[in-house]
This record gives sequence, structure tokens and C-alpha cells, in this order.
Amino acid sequence: MSCLRFFSKTATEVVANFIDSTKEFINLCSKGHIKEAFNRFKSEIWSDPTLFSHLIQSCTLKKSLSFSKQLHSLIVTSGCSSNNFICNHLLNMYSKIGQLQTAVTLFGVMPRRNIMSCNIMINANVQSGDLEGARKVFDGMTKRNIATWNAMVAGLVQFEFNEEGLRLLSEMHQVGFLPDEFTLGSVLRGCAGLRGLDAGRQIHCYVMKGGFELDLVVGSSLAHMYMKSGSLVEGEKVIRLMPIRNVIAWNTLIAGKAQNGHAEDVLDQYNLMRMVGFRPDKITFVSVISSCSELATLGQGQQIHAEVVKAGASLDVGVISSLISMYSRCGCLDDSMKAFLECEYSDVVLWSSMIAAYGFHGKGEEAINLFEQMEQKEFEANDVTFVSLLYACSHCGLKEKGMEFFDLMVKKYRLKPRLEHYTCVVDLLGRCGCLDEAEALIRNMPVKADTIIWKTLLSACKIHKSTDMAGRIAEEVLKLNPRDAAPYVLLSNIHASAKRWQGVSELREAMRERNVKKEPGVSWLEIKNQVHQFTMGDKSHPSSMEIDLYLEELTSEMKLRGYVPDTGADMHDMDNEEKEYNLKHHSEKLAIAFALMNTPTGVPIRVMKNLRVCSDCHVAIKYISAIKNREIIVRDASRFHHFRNGKCSCGDYW
Ligand code: ZN
Ligand code: ZN
Repeated sequence: MSCLRFFSKTATEVVANFIDSTKEFINLCSKGHIKEAFNRFKSEIWSDPTLFSHLIQSCTLKKSLSFSKQLHSLIVTSGCSSNNFICNHLLNMYSKIGQLQTAVTLFGVMPRRNIMSCNIMINANVQSGDLEGARKVFDGMTKRNIATWNAMVAGLVQFEFNEEGLRLLSEMHQVGFLPDEFTLGSVLRGCAGLRGLDAGRQIHCYVMKGGFELDLVVGSSLAHMYMKSGSLVEGEKVIRLMPIRNVIAWNTLIAGKAQNGHAEDVLDQYNLMRMVGFRPDKITFVSVISSCSELATLGQGQQIHAEVVKAGASLDVGVISSLISMYSRCGCLDDSMKAFLECEYSDVVLWSSMIAAYGFHGKGEEAINLFEQMEQKEFEANDVTFVSLLYACSHCGLKEKGMEFFDLMVKKYRLKPRLEHYTCVVDLLGRCGCLDEAEALIRNMPVKADTIIWKTLLSACKIHKSTDMAGRIAEEVLKLNPRDAAPYVLLSNIHASAKRWQGVSELREAMRERNVKKEPGVSWLEIKNQVHQFTMGDKSHPSSMEIDLYLEELTSEMKLRGYVPDTGADMHDMDNEEKEYNLKHHSEKLAIAFALMNTPTGVPIRVMKNLRVCSDCHVAIKYISAIKNREIIVRDASRFHHFRNGKCSCGDYW
């Protein structure tokens, strides 16, 4: 009797001891004390596979390759290596610590793979960028679950095989799987990538039928899809209907507004977001800063910069890169350089942004210099770097250098030129007067031409007064977009400068018939954090009378120094006096006059314009900069002009 009691007590103790030590072991694993956990594991004789899994997870979290290998051999010697559960954990571990090849080998020798093993391998391949490998595993599966489909769809979309992603969705549907919130999130991102509004709307119907519209991730993806595809209104509606808004929803809304050119709304939404208690993150900052560059509101940009620092986001490459570009676009190249140099670590994105900043200011030599430094430091230039570099060369007329870099990009860096690269090269050739070469390039390049590249060549035709070619190129633009006003305006200007009024009035008739509207020129500037906007002949500004008088005086002074209004470039065939009046009231002149009246002497004036500066304004501003002894910086649709002492940084080349 006593003997029995003795035995049963010991058995309980043994069990209790066992439970205690496994608890301790699991605790060690979860806290990441791998070494102690290892020792504990070896000292006890455990063969419970679930205990191994704790150790594997711990190694995965620590991303320690040496422990992972030790653990793997321990599992092999303990005889657990044929256990499916353990093997899947090992596959996951190797894929998470970036050892895809080891995972592939292990997968190859697994005696009994299940769906889980295959799913892990699909994700592992996607993560390491081997989409083909993922597809092979996917295609080889006889049985799949929803997670399998989700992994493959997400992988395709991640690598921008968006159409294939959508095809897979319908395939999945056909074999009887209903998409869940993860599938929907992926395919909506795919639609956004394709700007596929129709497909997106169909998926929206599914979202509503399936009751997913309240899901935060699906809702945000849906809104993102609409806004990325250009339908801001539908996107906003989705966000408005969301029962709660998280930071992702706010970011989606703010980025959508920024991408659709509603820069003013971006700042409003940003303020609203903070007012209702959300803290902006780096994604928010990138959108907001890019809107400040769009509007060239330096004061606001500086304020956001201070908030970036306060929020601890000033180490993020995306944020710094947008700050570099914001300062450049606000005309403060020195501050761009400061942001570039202050960043503790370098990155190809930052170098590219700084090269672009130089290019935007017409500082081609500096851009090239920076690129050479970058190569010396062995940063791998990417296709974005080359867009910046080619842009810089084209805006400074550095034809030889530009063509050299284009060659370098293809031959040394093995990068495939995109339409953007070709556009820069066409600009480069066109500005230098190699018009035929530029046209041949467009007609023979392996990518499809868009209106921008044709319009780039058309502007070159205007600069070099090549009327015949201009007509032909304008046709190409109109084939792609019959309602584009730019070819009409450019052709009209070409006719007007040759005083062929018949041609001008025919074009105006054609515009009226086809209902093509010319985008009105708008200039704006920021004074004391307030934005003032001007359009041609606009009398709505409270100081419009004073501005008129001021311009009157200024023009007489300019004329005394030799200024002759360039009435030839104006597209209207009215009498000279009328033309002169119109010219005098171009939006950029109004803005500059207002700035001269309202800022202290010596302070540089920064004006933005939505279109290119016209040639008369360009001449006039040179005179103004000399007469008033002011630095005037004008950012137009294509570049920066720094006017100082009667000269412009572009060297009359824009
Ligand atoms: Zn003008
Ligand atoms: Zn200029």
C-alpha cells in the first residue's frame, strides 16, 4: 500500500517536472534565448516534434543561419526529419532567413509533401523573386487550398504580371474557390497597376456581394484602385463609406489626391488627418511633400520637413528623396544638397534624386559629376538614375554626353530603355536640331510612342522652325489624342511667327469644331505662406489695379532699355496694340509684378507656371531682373529658369 503511494507520488512529480521544464524551454524560445534553449533541449531527452517547432521559430525570428544548421542536424539525428510538421517548419525557416536554395533542396527530398509544404515554397520563391519557381510548384500541385491561390495571385501582382493575376482569379473561381479578403486585396492592386477601371468595377461588385466592403484592407485597396485609375470621385466615395478609417485609409486617400494632381486637397486632408488624431507616417509624408513640390509652396514644405524630423521619419530613403526633389522644385537647390548630404547613409534612390535636382536646374555638369562620384563609390545605377541623367543632359544641350550615357545604360548596365528614356533622347536630339534622327528614333524604337514623346519632338520643330515636319508630327499627336490642345497651339505659334494668319485662323476653326480647349496659363507664388494665383488678363485679384499700373511703368522702363514686345508668338491675329496688352498681362508677368510690389528688395522671387514660359515673357523677365536687380526664379512646365542680371540660367534654351 505504502509502496504504491510512493510510486504514484513519484509519477506525478515526474510529470510535473516535465511540464515545468518544457514550459521553461518554450519560454526561452519565445524570448529568443536560442543558446540556452538549445542546451536545455540537448540535456533532456525529448522527441516531441512540437517542441522542435518552438526552437525552429526562435531561429527564424533570430535569422541565425548557424543555429538553423545546428538545429537541422539535431532534428536529423533525433529521427524527426521525416515528420511533415517539422519539415514544413524547416522550409519556412530557410525561406524566411533567405536560404531559398536550401529550402528547395529540402523540399525535393521531403518524403510526403502536403499542400502546406507547397504553399510555403510558393511564398519562398516569390519572396526571393523567382516567380517561375513559384509557378512550377503551383502547377505541380494536384490539390490546392485558398492560401495556395492567394500566394500565387499575390506573387504575380507583386511582380506586375497583373493580367496574369486577374486570369488566375477567374481560373480559381472556375474550379470553385471563392476569393477572400487577401485575394481581393491582391487583384485590386493588380487592377490599379493596369489602370483597369472596368475590371476593377467588376471586382467591386464582388466585394459588395461578398460583404467585404467593411474590411479595411479591401476598402483601401478598392479606393487605391479607383484613384490610381484616375477616378478620384469613386475612390473617395469608397473611403467615405468605410465605417472606421485607419492610417492606411488616410494614406490611400492622400496619395490618391496627390497622384491625381489635387495637390491643394492633399494638404487639407493631411491637416484633417492630424486633427482627428492620426499620426502621419513615412508614406503620408511622401505624398504630402510631393504635393508641396507640385505647388512649389516652400513655406509649407519646410514646415512638413520639421514635422518629418519630429516624427522620426528623417531616415527614410523615400522621405529624404522627396525632400530633395521638393527643395529643388521650390527653387532651393542648396537645400536639396543639404538634405542629400545630411542623410547618414547613401542609397541609389537618393543619388538619383540629387542628379534629377541638378538636371531640373539646368546644371548638367554637376549632374554628370555626381553620377561619376556615384560610380566611383560603386553604387549600381538603375533605370531611374538614367532618366535623371539623360534629362540633365538634354536640358543643357549636352548631346554627346547624353548619347554616351544612353549607350552606357544599355551596354554596361544592361538596362532596357523605357519610353521615358527614349523621350529624353528625343528631347536631346531635337533641341540640338537633329530632328530627322529624333523622328527616326521614335519610329524605330521597340516601345509604343505616346503623345508626350511626339510633343517633345514637336516643340523641337518649333525651336528650329521646321514647319513641314511640325505638321507631320502634329498629325501623330492628334492620331493618339484628337483633343490634345498642344499640337494646335504649337502649330499656330509656328504659323503666327511666320505671319501666316490664314493658317492660324484655320487651326482655330479646327479647334472650335473639335471642341479642343487650350489649357489657360496659370502662374502662382507663395508670399507669407499664402498662395496667390494669376491667369492672363485676370482682374479678380484684389490688387489687380495696382499691378496694372506697376506693369505699365515697368514696361516703359524696359522699352527704354531696348525691350521690344515679341508680338509674333501670340496666336491671335489681332492688331498690335491689343497683342501688346495681352502679352503684358501674361500670368507670369502679373505674378512677378505682384511679387516685386510685396516683397522686400533683395529677396529672390519664385514663380511657378503650369505651361512653358513664352518667349516674350522670357525676354521681359531678363530685363526685369536687371532693372530691379532681383533674382527671379520661374519654374515652368518643363524646367527652372534662374534670371539674374539680365540673363537666364537656361541660356535661352528651353
Ligand atoms: Zn508670356
Ligand atoms: Zn530661361
